[in-house]
Amino acid sequence: MIVVFTDLDGTLLDENYSYEAAKPALNYLLRSNIPIVFCSSKTRAEIEVYRREMGIKDPFISENGAAIFIPKYYFDFPYAYTKQLDDYNVIELGTEYSVLRETLERIRRTTGYEIVGFGDMTVEEVARDCGLSLKEAKLAKLREYDEAFSILEGDEREILRLIREAGLNYTKGGRYYHIIGNNDKGRAVHILTELYSKKFKDVKTIGIGDSLNDLPMLMTVDIPVLVKKRDGTYDMDIERIMEGKLLKAEGIGPSGWKWAIENIVIKGKGDEK
Ligand SMILES: [Mg+2]
Repeated sequence: MIVVFTDLDGTLLDENYSYEAAKPALNYLLRSNIPIVFCSSKTRAEIEVYRREMGIKDPFISENGAAIFIPKYYFDFPYAYTKQLDDYNVIELGTEYSVLRETLERIRRTTGYEIVGFGDMTVEEVARDCGLSLKEAKLAKLREYDEAFSILEGDEREILRLIREAGLNYTKGGRYYHIIGNNDKGRAVHILTELYSKKFKDVKTIGIGDSLNDLPMLMTVDIPVLVKKRDGTYDMDIERIMEGKLLKAEGIGPSGWKWAIENIVIKGKGDEK
């Protein structure tokens, strides 16, 4: 059984948050009952909107690997989870939002640098900055384990060093830095893969991403796929770190996504890699 783990922003979604270009491939997976697991820096509230819209019923990973949401009756065997919430069993791997906010605030105070987090911005500001509707921006601000921030003025490397000194971590998505706990997409993908391996005997995982926060996910799956960024180039760091192991999709964001599914799943080209 194939399981597809995918990033959203810049991967399945283009810069206007459209997945139109990927639709034929998406529909193929849905018809074939191939699990599609979103693995995004987005919040649970944001991800739920896309799942509902696309008709996906599989588990998902929110906020850069901070939490795994598994529909209650999805796996018919017992497994460890942190809490139950609505219709999910939730496996929490991340650090509480308030702790992340306090750390960012302390760094701002001690360095005097101009750092702006989602928590400092109004719904209107987030909407404008991200090109989201007000409704979407409201969902984007419902952060549980990850604070998105930008550095308006200050030494990037020093800020990132101070984050690490505080025992926390950071990653960079398309538009923002993210301060997070000791979670990454890879650990969450690994846990879900174990559960899938128990459900289906033979599991082959595909991971599709576009930027550095996808690296741990790409390093964890059987077939890592990198789509082109908006400017038509591939993420240089991922290219360098993963070298020959990577399958480079021909296409930007959702077009590359469609290319990947067509070539790996539909034509079965992944076996050659
Ligand atoms: Mg992305």
